[in-house]
Amino acid sequence: MSHRILLVEDEPGLVLTLTDLLTAEGYDVESATDGPSGLARALAAPFDLLILDVMLPGKNGFDVCRELRQQGCDAVVLMLTAKTQVVDRVVGLKLGADDYLTKPFEPAELLARLEALLRRVRKDASALQATFQFADVEIDFERGSVVKAGHPLALAGKELQLLRYLVERRGKVVPREELLETVWQYHSGVSSRTVDVHIAWLRQKLEDNPQSPRHIHTLRGVGYRFVP
Ligand code: CA
Repeated sequence: MSHRILLVEDEPGLVLTLTDLLTAEGYDVESATDGPSGLARALAAPFDLLILDVMLPGKNGFDVCRELRQQGCDAVVLMLTAKTQVVDRVVGLKLGADDYLTKPFEPAELLARLEALLRRVRKDASALQATFQFADVEIDFERGSVVKAGHPLALAGKELQLLRYLVERRGKVVPREELLETVWQYHSGVSSRTVDVHIAWLRQKLEDNPQSPRHIHTLRGVGYRFVP
């Protein structure tokens, strides 16, 4: 089964080159050349992966990515960014992008990233525990839904990934470094502070008393431990 890729890019030359390259590699490729049509296309049909340029006519790649996540689209998003947009990468990660590639890039580099991203998705899917319950919280990882005391909670993609990682290793200490590596893949601009901030957000949503957490414990200078 070939993976479906949506390429959202406004440079005609690059669209042509990448479409040829990806098709030759066995991917099923469609393309859109501006933000609004890329968003519409991505929402209309299921894609495994989106290659999303940041600078797009109509609506930039960040806005497209954010709106996709808000609408519940969980396709892998690889963003294409210019060399100088370091700050933008951080913004994009918060909006739910999975990886970045800086233009200009070698075709081999793009293919390697795609394979790694798609492999990760497959591994996640097979290792995934579909549902988990603790206290008054019910999590459905497949649907990406979290309910506390009967009320649905809105969790961002990274929050859910982080929660899942901790839940799967419940009772064990998970070092910050490991979370940075697995949940954030060491993206530039992402620091251990990012982990702490996301943990704080999870506590706000999941704990009865976030100031005195019962489930997500901090081990100072080491990392975190989830206890059901
Ligand atoms: Ca562009």
